[in-house]
Amino acid sequence: MEIDSTDKLRSIRDDVIPCTQCDLYKSRTNPVIGQGNHDADIMFVGEAPGEEEDKNAMPFVGPAGKILDKLLAYIKLERKDVYITNTVKCRPPNNADPTDEQKKECSSYLTRQIDAIKPKIIVSLGNHATKTVMELFGHGEKLPTISKIHGELFKPDRSFQEVSINVGEVEMAGMKIMPLYHPAAMLHNPLLSQVLRSDFKRLKAVIDSNR
Ligand code: URA
Repeated sequence: MEIDSTDKLRSIRDDVIPCTQCDLYKSRTNPVIGQGNHDADIMFVGEAPGEEEDKNAMPFVGPAGKILDKLLAYIKLERKDVYITNTVKCRPPNNADPTDEQKKECSSYLTRQIDAIKPKIIVSLGNHATKTVMELFGHGEKLPTISKIHGELFKPDRSFQEVSINVGEVEMAGMKIMPLYHPAAMLHNPLLSQVLRSDFKRLKAVIDSNR
């Protein structure tokens, strides 16, 4: 019997809530698992929950989230149309960058979310998410920084197909990845506003051409 996306996401939630695989569980208020459409064609992957997310158990509900909402609205999407999650499900204290170990320990949850939702396009926000997502698909080596690859669409090629990940029976080749600047980057550099808007327009064009 085929297990549906909601059942799979429920089982991931049940595993994340008591998770103690890395030390972030000690300081978190709530794990932030993800939010949105369980059958979304587009999945956004951020870095890690911040203070507001940790309090509310929801991704992107702080200042970066407000920017993300505006960018979604700019291409006529709402949260209910997409799925939003993070590389690391628990807040690193003082919003520190997640460590390699924290990202590694958490990566199976992201893999399982990708398997549950089967998005057509994974949008990785910022360097951490991009590296993690590309690594899941075997493309983590010598990855240029987000300033070089933002807005590009990575499609499966031969090598991608060969190393594409399997979760049980599910082959995950065929998904596309679009790395974008993290919305929080705009808080530090308002000049990125134009870049993000134009990348979101590209994303919209890709979504429309996938329909
Ligand atoms: N930044 C992220 O990367 N994720 C969130 O959920 C909030 C801020």
